[in-house]
Amino acid sequence: HSSSILDTVGCSADLCSSDMGVCDSVVGVLGGGQLGRMLLQAASPLAIRVAVLDPAPDAPASGLAYRHVVGSFRDTEAVRQFASGCNVLTVEIEHVDVDSLDALAAEGVDVEPKPSTIRTIQDKYLQKVHFSKHGVPLPEFLRLTDRASAVEAGQQFGYPLMIKTRRLAYDGRGNAVARTEKDLDSAISSLGGYERGLYAEKWAPFEKELAVMVARGRDGTLRSYPVVETTHKDNICHTVLAPAPVPAQVAEAAMSVAEKAIGSLEGAGVFGVELFLLPGGEVLLNEVAPRPHNSGHYTIEGCITSQFEQHLRAVLGLPLGDTSMRLPCAMMLNILGEDEGEAGFHIAHELMARALEIPGASIHWYGKQEIRKQRKMGHITVVGPSLEVVRNRMAKIRGESDSEHP
Ligand code: ATP
Ligand code: MG
Ligand code: MG
Repeated sequence: HSSSILDTVGCSADLCSSDMGVCDSVVGVLGGGQLGRMLLQAASPLAIRVAVLDPAPDAPASGLAYRHVVGSFRDTEAVRQFASGCNVLTVEIEHVDVDSLDALAAEGVDVEPKPSTIRTIQDKYLQKVHFSKHGVPLPEFLRLTDRASAVEAGQQFGYPLMIKTRRLAYDGRGNAVARTEKDLDSAISSLGGYERGLYAEKWAPFEKELAVMVARGRDGTLRSYPVVETTHKDNICHTVLAPAPVPAQVAEAAMSVAEKAIGSLEGAGVFGVELFLLPGGEVLLNEVAPRPHNSGHYTIEGCITSQFEQHLRAVLGLPLGDTSMRLPCAMMLNILGEDEGEAGFHIAHELMARALEIPGASIHWYGKQEIRKQRKMGHITVVGPSLEVVRNRMAKIRGESDSEHP
C-alpha cells in the first residue's frame, strides 16, 4: 500500500489494511438514534464502514448503515454477536450493557472509549465521585438511601435541592427539584423512590450553561472545540451558541475544567462536557457524555472537522482533525416535537420551510416515524459572520421579529 493514505497518516496496520477507504475496519456502534445517523453521514465521505446495533428496525441510523443489526445494546448476547463482525466498538448512548463490553474487552475486543469510562459515566453518582476525586470542580452531592439522608442533604446544601436518578437519565427525565423540605417526599416518589438509586446535588445558581466538546485520541491527546453556550427548556437542550459570548478568562476556565475531566477518563472518542457558569465567574462541571453530544451538532457546518468525523478518527486511531470554526459564529436550534401526530409534523415542517429561505441555515431531520411532545426530531444550524447575525437569522426561522437587536 505504498500509495495509500494509510501510510501517510501512519495508521496502525491492523486497523487500516487496505485501500478500500480510509480504513478497512468496521466500526460497530451501539445505538442507532440520531447520533448514530450523523456518525454514518460523517463516515460516508471517508468510506468508513459503520455497523449499528439498535432494536428498532426503522431506527434513524438504519437506512444509512453499512450494516444494521436489529437487537438490543442492553442484551449481552446481542452485543457479543454484533461485536464479532466489528474491529472496534463504540457507543452513541451510554445506557448500554457495560458488563458485556468489559467481558469483550478482556477477550481483546477494542472498545472505545473504554468500558471503565462508560461504567463511570452511566451512573451519575459514580461519575461525580470520580470527577471530585480528580479535582474537577462540581456542585456538592450526596447519595440518597433513605429519608434521613435526603433531609441531611437538604440541611447541608439548602433549597431548592436538585434530586437526580443515578442511572438512565436523559433530557432531565431523572431530575426533580425539592423547593423545601416538605417537597422531598413528592420529589423522591416522582423519580421512583430511593430503590431507584438517587443522589442529591446542591443547586447551581448558574448565570449561563456552557459546554465543550473534547476529543481524546487513542494516545490520550486532547483536542477541544470552542466553548459554547447552551440554553435548556424544560431540561432539554434548546439552543447552542458558538462561540459562547463570555470573557476570554471564562472560556479558558471552561476549557480547563473540561480537559481536566476528560483527561481523567480512559479511551478514545469525543466527549460532551456540560458546565455551569456561576455569577462570580467560577465554572463547575454538570455532567459528561462519552460520545457525540447535542451541544456539538453545530460542528457539522460550524467547524472544519465535525464532532462525528472526529469521533470516528479518534476511535480508529487516525489523527484528530482541526476543531476550529469555518465561520466566526454558529447557532443551533433543536427541533422538538411540539405536538403528537400530524399537527406536530406540520409545526416542524413550517419551521424547516422557513429555514430553507435563510442564508447560512442547514436542516437536519432525523427521519423518526413518530412524533411526540419534546422528542428530538431534528435540528437547524445557522452559521454567519457574527453572533448578532446568526441570532437574527434564527429568530426569522422561528418566526420572531428582530426585537432583541432592533
Ligand atoms: P441530558 O439530556 O443532558 O443527559 P440529564 O437528564 O442528564 O440531561 P442534567 O444534565 O443532569 O440532566 O440536568 C438537566 C438540566 O437541569 C441542566 O442542563 C440544568 O439546566 C439543570 N440542572 C441540573 N443540575 C442542576 C443543579 N445542580 N442546579 C441547577 N440546575 C441544574
Ligand atoms: Mg445526562
Ligand atoms: Mg445534561
